[in-house]
Amino acid sequence: MPRYECRTAQKGFAAGKAFVIRPDRTGEYRPGDPVEEAARLETAATEMKRRLTAGKKDADPAGAAVIDAEILILDDENFLGSARRAIREERLGAPDAVKQAAEKLCEKLMESGQDYIRQRCEDVRGFAAGLTALIAGGLEVPSEPCILAGSELSPGQITMIGPEMIRGILTEIGSPTSHVSVLAGNYGIPYLYGLENLTEKVRQQDYLILDPDGDGVWVNPPEEKIREAEARQEEIREAREKQQKQATGKVTRTRICANISRAEEADGLPEKGADGIGLFRSELLFLNGAEAPSEEEQFGAYRHAAEAMAGRETVIRTMDIGSDKHAAWLKIPEEINPALGLRGLRVSLEYRELFRSQLRAMLRAAAYGNVRIMIPMVASEWELDEVLKEIQTASEELERRGEKFRIPETGVMIETPAAVMIAPALAEKARFFSIGTNDLTQYTLAVDREARGMERYSNPMHEAVLRMIALATEAAHAKHIPVAVCGELAGNPEGAEQLIRIGVDELSVSPAKLAAVRNRAAEIEDSMAQETGKDRNEGIRSPAEGELVPMAEIPDPVFSGGVMGECVGVIPANGKIYAPVSGTVTTVAATGHAVSLRGNGEEILVHAGLDTVRLKGEGFRVHVSEGEHVKQGQLIMEMDPELIRARGFNPMIIVVRMSQGDDSGEKRNN
Ligand code: PEP
Ligand code: MG
Repeated sequence: MPRYECRTAQKGFAAGKAFVIRPDRTGEYRPGDPVEEAARLETAATEMKRRLTAGKKDADPAGAAVIDAEILILDDENFLGSARRAIREERLGAPDAVKQAAEKLCEKLMESGQDYIRQRCEDVRGFAAGLTALIAGGLEVPSEPCILAGSELSPGQITMIGPEMIRGILTEIGSPTSHVSVLAGNYGIPYLYGLENLTEKVRQQDYLILDPDGDGVWVNPPEEKIREAEARQEEIREAREKQQKQATGKVTRTRICANISRAEEADGLPEKGADGIGLFRSELLFLNGAEAPSEEEQFGAYRHAAEAMAGRETVIRTMDIGSDKHAAWLKIPEEINPALGLRGLRVSLEYRELFRSQLRAMLRAAAYGNVRIMIPMVASEWELDEVLKEIQTASEELERRGEKFRIPETGVMIETPAAVMIAPALAEKARFFSIGTNDLTQYTLAVDREARGMERYSNPMHEAVLRMIALATEAAHAKHIPVAVCGELAGNPEGAEQLIRIGVDELSVSPAKLAAVRNRAAEIEDSMAQETGKDRNEGIRSPAEGELVPMAEIPDPVFSGGVMGECVGVIPANGKIYAPVSGTVTTVAATGHAVSLRGNGEEILVHAGLDTVRLKGEGFRVHVSEGEHVKQGQLIMEMDPELIRARGFNPMIIVVRMSQGDDSGEKRNN
C-alpha cells in the first residue's frame, strides 16, 4: 500500500477509483487483420455515438451544438465509408484508416474555398483524433465518480468529463493557482499535484485516497482503510449539507456571492445562500467547442444563469481566453510568455466580431435578470473606454434588429498593478470593481501562476498584494462604487478576514465554499464590532451631498407631519444618491424615484424629490434591484436635479425611518 508525497492545490478529502487520462497511444497501436480492424472501427463509432448522444442530454446549448456537429461527421457516409474501404482494400489499421478518411473529407471540403468550410475541416480532424484515440484506448470517460488522474489536465477536460463525475484530482504537473485548480476549487473538488511519474505509480481503477492534511496519496490501501475512507466521504457530505443549512440564514454586511463557470451551476444558488453571482467565467463556453459559441447559444446560457438568480446580481465576465485557457479554434500565434500576451480583454479587443456577439448576448440576457458585465485584465483607461463604446454599438445593433435588451452596468476586474495605480480614474467610469487576486498576485509578485515549484514565491497574502487591494478599495469607495474580491483569496479563511478588514463589500467564492465563507464573515464582522465597541448597527448616513433640512421644515406635510415615520431632508448638491445604511433592498418604486432598504435593524426609505411620482421615471435611474444587498455609501440611484426643477418639482431627497409596522408599498412609493 504505497503512499506518495504530493502537494495540495485544493484541500479536502477524496477517495475512489482512479480514472487515468492516458496520453495518446495511437503510436503504439498494433493493427489486427482487416476483419478485426473493421470490427474495432464499428465498435468505436457506435460507442462514440452513444457517448455523444448521452452527453447531449445534460449539455447546455453551446455544448449541444458542438455535439450535433460531431454526430453529423459520424453520420457522413463519405467519412466512415471511406475508412471502411481503406481497411478492406488497403489493409490499413483502423486508426490510420480514420485519419486517412478525415484527410480525404477535408480535401473535398477545402475545394469549396469558403472560410466556414475550412473551419469545418478543423472539426473533422479534431473529431477523427478523438475517434482514433478511442480505437487505441486513449480517450475514455469515467462511468462512475472517480479520482481523475493524469500527467497534466486542462480546464476543458474537467468540464467535458463533468464535475459530478470527479471526486478528486491528482496530477503530475500542476500548481495551486492554475485554472485547473481554480475550476477544481469552484466545484469543491480536492486536488493534489506533483506526483512524479504518475502513470507508472497509478493504474486504471486503482483505489486512491487523497490525504487532506498530509499532502499525500494512498494507492490501493487495504480493505479496512477503504471502508473508513468511504464512510468519511459520506460524513463530509453530510457535514457540508448541515453547514449550508446553518449558514444560509446568517446575515452578513459583506455580500457572499458565487463564482461559476457553467450556466447550470446557477441552479439552486439562491437556496444555497448566494447573494448573487460575483463571477461567471464565460470563457468556459468557448474552450471545448470546435468553434466559438454563437450569440444565440451564449444568450441561452447567460439568460439561464440570470433567471436562476431571480433578480440577484449576475456578474458575467467577458471571455478571459488566452494564456492557459486555450481555445483551439482561435488561432492565437505562439507566444513566449502567454500570460503577458494576448489574453483576457486583449483577445476581445483584437477579435471584435467575437466580442460584439458576446456583448449582444449579454445585453439580451440582461432583459431577463440582474446581469452585469465585467471585464478582465484591464490595464489602461482607454481599454474601458473601448468596451463602453462597444456596448453602445451592440445596443444600437440590437435596436436595429428589434431585439429585447437592456444595457447592464459595467465593472472592471482589478488584476494588474496598472489597474490598481489608475483605480481612481477607472472608478469614475466603472460601476464596480472586482479584484482578481489570482492574477493580481501573479502580476504583482512576477510569479507565473502556472509555473511548477513556485508556491513559496506566490503568496496572495503578501504585503504588496494586500496593499494593492487596499488601494483599489479606497479608490472605489471614494467614488461610491462597491468592491468585490473574486479570486481564490476570498475563499480562504485568513484571506477572507484580511479582505473584510480592508473593507471590501463582497466575497465571491466557489459554490462549495459559500456556507463556510458566510459563517466566517459573520464571525469576523462580530469580532470587528467588539473591537471597535460599536455593534453592527452603523447609524444612518446622509444619502447625498448637500444641505440638511430638519423634518419640520420639509415642504410636504406627508413628511413633515411624520405620517410615514421620522425623517430628514437633503437639498442635493448633485444627482448622486447613496445607500444610507447597509442592508437589503426591499422596494424599488416602478417610477424609479424611491428605494427602501432593510438594514440597521429597521426599514429606511430614500425618496428622491417631492411628489416626483408624477414624473413617471423621467430624470431617475436606479442602480439596485429588490432583494439586492447594498453597503452603506454605495451608489443606489441617480437623478437629474436640473430636469426635476425644470419640470416644476422640488428635488429634495427625504430619508425616512419607517414607522414600525408600516409597510404600505403605496405610501412608500409616494
Ligand atoms: C483572478 O485572477 O483572481 C480571477 C478571479 O480570474 P481567473 O482566476 O479566472 O483568471
Ligand atoms: Mg484572472
